[in-house]
Amino acid sequence: MSTETKGRKCAGKRRYRTLQQALATVERLVAAGAYRERLNAYPCQFCGGHHVGHLGPNTGRRKRT
Ligand SMILES: [Zn+2]
Repeated sequence: MSTETKGRKCAGKRRYRTLQQALATVERLVAAGAYRERLNAYPCQFCGGHHVGHLGPNTGRRKRT
């Protein structure tokens, strides 16, 4: 199928120099009402920086009843 293994997957994303900054952004978003579970701060292997990812609204990974 598609072979887009190389390239900048993070193009256009907000980049943070340190993981601390990315985590601080997560905290800010959480404080603003976002769900912490849906935010993901991670180091980027493409640009060497860090990004804050957003998980979809419907990630039904864990199903508890
Ligand atoms: Zn990146």
